[in-house]
Amino acid sequence: MTTTWPEAAPDAIPFRVEGVSVSYGSQVALDRVDLEIRAGEALALVGPSGSGKTTTLRLLNATVEPTAGRVLARGEDLALVSDDRLRQVRSEIGVISQDLGLVPNLRVLQNVLAGRLGRRGFFASLRPLLFPRRADMEEVLALLDRLGIGDLIFQRVDSLSGGERQRVAIARALYQGAKALLADEPFSALDPARARETIELLLGVARENEMTLVLSMHDIELAREYLPRLVGLRGGAVAFDRAASEVERSELESLYRLEA
Ligand code: ADP
Ligand code: MG
Repeated sequence: MTTTWPEAAPDAIPFRVEGVSVSYGSQVALDRVDLEIRAGEALALVGPSGSGKTTTLRLLNATVEPTAGRVLARGEDLALVSDDRLRQVRSEIGVISQDLGLVPNLRVLQNVLAGRLGRRGFFASLRPLLFPRRADMEEVLALLDRLGIGDLIFQRVDSLSGGERQRVAIARALYQGAKALLADEPFSALDPARARETIELLLGVARENEMTLVLSMHDIELAREYLPRLVGLRGGAVAFDRAASEVERSELESLYRLEA
């Protein structure tokens, strides 16, 4: 099944990565990468461990700076915008990191409410977190219901399964009002059935909410099955970038073989 994707998503964030290299000390993580991501499209970054997937995702929300080249979100160079503007841009980008970034000893409700922490100042955000208004709670509950975990709203996150935690992280990004969703290997901790459920959920949520969706994933077969576009990374460079239906099995195999 290849997902058809809406042609236009006016609110979604488009990205451009132009000739970007990233080094960590003497370690080159990305080497002159070009990537054009249209507003509202969905793609997967695939490649073996160490190929640069996480670094690429972190470039898109400016938590990693390019050593060379530039990264644009909505046409703005993220290295040149003011701190205020950068905060604003980041508040529109939902991030589901490999560890999900949830606070384990807080309840689901608080974790989702934290999605709006970045929007106001820290102290202004603390109050609604500790003493949520009824309207905020209802909004969170509606989101959780949509994701099938409404009954978990008062559970502590550390009592949840991997799949449930994924959903909390997705709910947090939705509550944040994200216009792009960046998810770093979101399925690696899930069994295959759960992985399928979660990928369908992410695709559905991104389409409904007109979000640009960039996933990194290890499982290329799963990526090929669900994502319209695959970007193969190898040793920090783009090995291929095309419609999933046009990616040859041999290309996928060489992605992994050459790395070894
Ligand atoms: P992936 O997510 O595909 O596994 P990464 O983007 O994490 O790849 O890493 C790309 C390369 O950069 C790897 O060689 C990795 O070892 C290196 N790297 C990543 N983060 C750091 C860091 N903080 N310090 C030094 N090297 C790093
Ligand atoms: Mg990674």
